Amino acid sequence: MNALSLRNLKKTYNNGFEALKGIDLDVEAGDFFALLGPNGAGKSTAIGIISSLVNATSGSVSIFGHDLKHDLAKAKSCIGLVPQEVNFNQFDTVKSILLNQAGYYGTPRKLALQRAEYCLKQMDLWDKRDTVSRRLSGGMKRRVMIARALVHSPKLLILDEPTAGVDIEIRRSMWQMMQEVNEQGTTIILTTHYLEEAESLCRNIAIINHGRIVENSDMAGLLARL
Ligand code: ADP
Ligand code: ADP
Repeated sequence: MNALSLRNLKKTYNNGFEALKGIDLDVEAGDFFALLGPNGAGKSTAIGIISSLVNATSGSVSIFGHDLKHDLAKAKSCIGLVPQEVNFNQFDTVKSILLNQAGYYGTPRKLALQRAEYCLKQMDLWDKRDTVSRRLSGGMKRRVMIARALVHSPKLLILDEPTAGVDIEIRRSMWQMMQEVNEQGTTIILTTHYLEEAESLCRNIAIINHGRIVENSDMAGLLARL
């Protein structure tokens, strides 16, 4: 079973710019997958389409067998997204950020409380649960973003530059947490600027440039050819 299949995916923005020029990509269930490429390559556009924030111009997206066009609600419930920018309400407590998200997905209250506790413990944030989030450090805010994305138990977690700008020690501890999430069965797709991050975490990799996939292989094979 594929967690994600893209077929001939194209995006032309209203100004005529072709950000994606026909992308084909498969990510297997259980994989830890890296999507790499220089700035402007089309990574955020692709992630935006997969998480149904951006409309594709043509082509298809299937998430665990659910076609994004015909089966939007099911496809969406499979996905947890960690966007690049911190976008939660910074005046909310950590716990309420997770509970609001669970509510958005229609998770019953009791289950939402259990999931919030589990995800906050997993991201080492349980003792910060009642803290107003603007008081948290940058690294903690990033972990709140991950905990929030996991609260509805998505099968596919998409992380857009999750460790950008955090220092190396915090980055390493986040790697461990992401690895644990993957080991528990969640498929992960990661974009990053740090090749070492992709190298140490990911089994398979695609490189995108100028809106096309220019490389798609397992990590070991790619490193052998570099
Ligand atoms: P769509 O083609 O999907 O309808 P639009 O072209 O209307 O998208 O743009 C959506 C938003 O992205 C607008 O708010 C626009 O200002 C912004 N935008 C436009 N050009 C760029 C760019 N080069 N990079 C990032 N955002 C942009
Ligand atoms: P990446 O995430 O790899 O840096 P993006 O997907 O953000 O790349 O952007 C790909 C290209 O599409 C860039 O050249 C960017 O300027 C352009 N772009 C992004 N959003 C818009 C938009 N809304 N309207 C027009 N061009 C856009």
